[in-house]
Amino acid sequence: MIRAIYPGSFDPVTLGHLDIIKRAAQTVGELIVGVLNNGSKTPLFTIDERVSMLLEVTEGLSNVKVMSFSGLLVDFARQTNANVVVRGLRAISDFEYELQMAQTNRKMNPQVDTMFLATGLEYSYLSSTIVKEVAFFHGDIHEFVPESVAKRVQEKVLEVTRT
Ligand code: ADP
Repeated sequence: MIRAIYPGSFDPVTLGHLDIIKRAAQTVGELIVGVLNNGSKTPLFTIDERVSMLLEVTEGLSNVKVMSFSGLLVDFARQTNANVVVRGLRAISDFEYELQMAQTNRKMNPQVDTMFLATGLEYSYLSSTIVKEVAFFHGDIHEFVPESVAKRVQEKVLEVTRT
């Protein structure tokens, strides 16, 4: 059975991420969505909030697990016995960095291969950063994120702007 990891910050999870999760889950035996707890980035949502949003939106997908991790992806792959990493490619601008990461990971752990999925055309413009920017200007984000996530983003924006 192929066990794959789909790693990312998911700050917050978007419909583009969800599209990749669903398509990858149809291709591999088990998909672990790995939520990166990265000390060098300051996310809008805590690691627990990001995991909880992902758990909600992947509820019906029986072969999808959600886990947080910190440190190197290749170490997380070793710990979970996964040998495939899934990444989404939106545009040519993603390509250079993604190729570099895939090659670095393979060098560090030759058991791990990276599988790229081309983003759905309707989501190719979408990023967590754009969603946050629109939300902070009180724009409508319902077309960008699942309904439950839209609610959480709006609440978070209120919470952050109040303090
Ligand atoms: P990171 O901080 O690692 O870039 P993200 O949460 O932004 O994490 O993205 C995780 C993965 O999802 C990456 O492979 C990224 O290319 C992919 N991704 C992000 N947005 C989209 C989208 N709109 N459609 C498809 N894939 C996406």
